[in-house]
Amino acid sequence: MELPEITILAGQMGAELVGRRISEVEVSNEKCLNMPLGRFQEVVVGKEVTSVVPRGKWVFIGLEPGYALLFNTGMGADVIHFDAGDDLPEKYQIRVALDDGSGFTVRVWWFCYLHLVPTDRLSEHRMTAGMGLSPLDEGFTLEHFRGLLAGRRGGIKSFLMNQRNVAGIGNVYIQDILFGAGLHPLRKIDTLSEEEVGALYGSMRGILTESIGMGGLAYERDFYGRSGGYGREQYKVAYKEGLPCPVCGAVIEKIRTGSTTSFICPSCQRLE
Ligand SMILES: [Zn+2]
Repeated sequence: MELPEITILAGQMGAELVGRRISEVEVSNEKCLNMPLGRFQEVVVGKEVTSVVPRGKWVFIGLEPGYALLFNTGMGADVIHFDAGDDLPEKYQIRVALDDGSGFTVRVWWFCYLHLVPTDRLSEHRMTAGMGLSPLDEGFTLEHFRGLLAGRRGGIKSFLMNQRNVAGIGNVYIQDILFGAGLHPLRKIDTLSEEEVGALYGSMRGILTESIGMGGLAYERDFYGRSGGYGREQYKVAYKEGLPCPVCGAVIEKIRTGSTTSFICPSCQRLE
């Protein structure tokens, strides 16, 4: 899940959870916790959910008094709401029940993190404390983005995917974000013109906003089990190797860029 899916999920979780008390927590994959299960249950059960907020690829669930549950779906997960009396999914690793009998289950594809942190010690949570702003955060202005890039020399793709710089972009949306700005993934940051930085900023926010409007990625499911609407037809170059570029018609290529795979139009996204 990237920023759009996390934003949608957090919004839906907030609508169902805020104001309710946690009555029960079941976790069968204890490795996702940052403490023994017994201790985790002791703290969480009885607490009221006060907020659910997206933070990059994380969902922050505020618990009163004094705690936050930090949830990251790793390579992906089905996080599904249930009402009192509903049948639960056949397989799940986490179940959180609320005081009215509703709740949610989590079926993790590979791994996930469910970390319980006292609110006054959030700055000590190493996986999230250094995270940058997300492109749709209020403070993420063009000036903020220019400031992040100033003095940097590496490749633009790895920079954007580093959660310490920009939170919430992964290897799906990055493809069309770079294409939209006409940038090759390996372009060095210090070679970008003002216009290119402006185009990249607009492309980033445009694509993420468009996907949120369509319910997120088609292969991810929301809190109610519905698939998103942002799929292959919306992709510009992502996962479309061998097909024509929607702008110039050149054949889209799939290339290795360091440890990641990239999809580019060799004509619209030149390295030189
Ligand atoms: Zn092209």
